[in-house]
Amino acid sequence: MTAVHLGLPVVPGALSPSPRPDTPALVDSFGRVATDLRVSLTDRCNLRCTYCMPAEGLEWMPRADMLTDGELNRLIRVAVCDLGVTNLRFTGGEPTLRKGIEGIIAAAAALTPRPRISMTTNAIGLSRRAAALKAAGLDRINVSLDTLRPDRFTELTRRDRLADVLDGLAAARTAGLDPVKVNTVLLRGVNDDEAVPLLRFCVANGYHLRFIEQMPLDAQHGWSRAEMVTAEQILTALRTGFELTPRPGARGAAPAERWLVDGGPADVGVIASVTRPFCGDCDRTRLTADGQLRSCLFSQTETDLREPLRAGASDAEIAGLWRGTMWAKLAGHAINEAGFAQPARPMSAIGG
Ligand code: SAM
Repeated sequence: MTAVHLGLPVVPGALSPSPRPDTPALVDSFGRVATDLRVSLTDRCNLRCTYCMPAEGLEWMPRADMLTDGELNRLIRVAVCDLGVTNLRFTGGEPTLRKGIEGIIAAAAALTPRPRISMTTNAIGLSRRAAALKAAGLDRINVSLDTLRPDRFTELTRRDRLADVLDGLAAARTAGLDPVKVNTVLLRGVNDDEAVPLLRFCVANGYHLRFIEQMPLDAQHGWSRAEMVTAEQILTALRTGFELTPRPGARGAAPAERWLVDGGPADVGVIASVTRPFCGDCDRTRLTADGQLRSCLFSQTETDLREPLRAGASDAEIAGLWRGTMWAKLAGHAINEAGFAQPARPMSAIGG
C-alpha cells in the first residue's frame, strides 16, 4: 500500500473505497500506521486548569465503567503483541491518581517486544514516586508546566502547587527518566509573556520544552481561534531571547517542530496542532479510561471495547475491532474546516 502524504485535513467521511490490506498492523485507509497508543488511566485530575475544566470539576466516570487494571493490561497486551504498537503513553486526567499505575507500567514493560513507555503528568506527588515509576519500567516523562510564577500558577490551575511540580520535575531527572519534557500551553494575556523565561529554565535544567497550541478540547467550550496563541507568535516571542535554527533531521510522526536554541544542543519544540496540522503523519491510537477506542483526539465516534471484553471476546476479536476502528480513521482533525464540531468528551476525559 502506498503512503499518501497529506497536507491539510480533508472532508470527514471521505474514506478510501479500497479494501483493508491483510496485515495485523493498525493501518488506515490513508496509508498511516498507528504504533503509538495513548492510554488514559482516569478522567480525574488534582488540578483545575482554567483552559481544561471548570473549578468544580466534571461529572467523573462511574467507577464501574472504568477498565480494571486486568482489563487495561489485556488491551495493552493485544495492542503491543498483536497490533504492532511500539510506544505507550499513559495519560489522563492525571495518571498518577490511578492506584496501581506502577503495576500497569510493569505489566506493559514485561511484554515482548517491550514497548517504549512514557507518561504525561502534572508531576504533583512525583517527587515521592519517580523512582518507583522508573523501576516499574517508565522510560520517559512529559510534565505539564505553564508558568514559573507561584501566584500565576495558583490562578491558572486553581491550586497552590507550583513547588510540588518543580520538585516532581527534579525528581524525574534524578530517577533517570530520559528525556524529561515540559509541555506548555500559552494563553493570551495569562502567561504569554513567559515563553522566554520558561525556555531559559528548561535549558538550564536539561528539560526539553514543547509549546502546545491551545486546541478546542476544553470542557467549557471556551476556545477561541482569535484568542489562541499561534506557533508563529510563540516563535516570535522566543526569538526575542534566543537564536532559533531549524533542527536538522526528519520529523517523522513527532508532533513537535523543533528548533535548536542558540546553536544547540538544547532545542525547543512547538506543537502547532491548529495552525500547522500534522495529521498526515499521525501514528496515534487512543484508549479512554472507560474502554472506548478513538482513532483521533477529535473523533466524533468511539468503539466500545469494554463491553466485548466483559462479554468474553477473544483477543482476536478485540484486535479485529481495533483494526476496523483505525482503518476508518479520518484524514484529519478538521479544526480548520467549515462545520468543525468539538468532540463531546473534553481533553481530560479522552486523555491528552
Ligand atoms: N494531567 C496530566 C498533565 O497535566 O499533563 C495529563 C492530562 S493533560 C489533559 C495533558 C496535556 O494537555 C497538558 O499538558 C495540558 O496542558 C494539555 N491541554 C489541556 N487542555 C488543552 C487544550 N485545550 N489544548 C491544548 N492542550 C491542552
